[in-house]
Amino acid sequence: MYYKIFKISEGISLIQEIYVANFMRCNIWHVRGKEFDLIIDTGMGLSSLKKFIIDEIDKPIISVITHSHFDHCGSLHEFENRLGHKSEAKIIQNMRNEDIVFSGAWKEIQIIDKVKFPNYEGNTFHVTPTTLTGFLDEGDVIDLGNRTFKILHLPGHSPGSIGLLDTKSKELFSGDALYDGELLDEFYHSDKTLFKKTLNRLKNLDVEIFHGGHFPSFNKKRAHKIIETYLSGSNTIKDVSKWFKNSQSKGRQIFSDQDWTLAKSIISQNENKFSS
Ligand SMILES: [Zn+2]
Ligand SMILES: [Zn+2]
Repeated sequence: MYYKIFKISEGISLIQEIYVANFMRCNIWHVRGKEFDLIIDTGMGLSSLKKFIIDEIDKPIISVITHSHFDHCGSLHEFENRLGHKSEAKIIQNMRNEDIVFSGAWKEIQIIDKVKFPNYEGNTFHVTPTTLTGFLDEGDVIDLGNRTFKILHLPGHSPGSIGLLDTKSKELFSGDALYDGELLDEFYHSDKTLFKKTLNRLKNLDVEIFHGGHFPSFNKKRAHKIIETYLSGSNTIKDVSKWFKNSQSKGRQIFSDQDWTLAKSIISQNENKFSS
């Protein structure tokens, strides 16, 4: 088994690629709907995501990518309905490693568990190109029959980064625009000014729970802290190799399950608030 699934709350599960390093492992979200099921982001695609989830799903699937980076769009090509922002469409179609930001230091550091994937090489890894079958932009709505998501355009990390907001439960799937870790604003198509704008917008949004593109989910208070720290000039990665070495010397495990206990309790508190 190359994936692991965690039930996060009623209707929302998190799928993770086990053999991708903790710091690089993207959160793949499965949201159950009445008429459609939603898959938000698709991991690196080291093995088939569709095969893994197909037994869980008896509805048509809408797959959405929050953006075009290699850790989010690997298995996108396996799905019939493939949605994302138009600014990421050309990248998805071509998937040159430098465009999906799998280049430079990211190729050199240990991203994949060598024991499980002995043949994996950073130099030969590539993501299967595909097309977007539809575009999503600010204000669009995805209706699953029992819950709807409003699309937010959240540029900065990449030009076509989007978030999916459930305005009823006040949960936001924020992709790499905001997660509980060092934020990245130095890719070739990143824009720091736009990123700051996006983060200021997220700070003032009526959101209780953030489901980021990486790491466990968090609440509004934590979101403010992450944003404030970034805006004050820290909480970002300037040098990937150095940052990777530092992480290792701190004894951070590279391959292990993440601790979702705290995140789960925050989410269930939020659910109780909205169901009462
Ligand atoms: Zn990214
Ligand atoms: Zn990412």
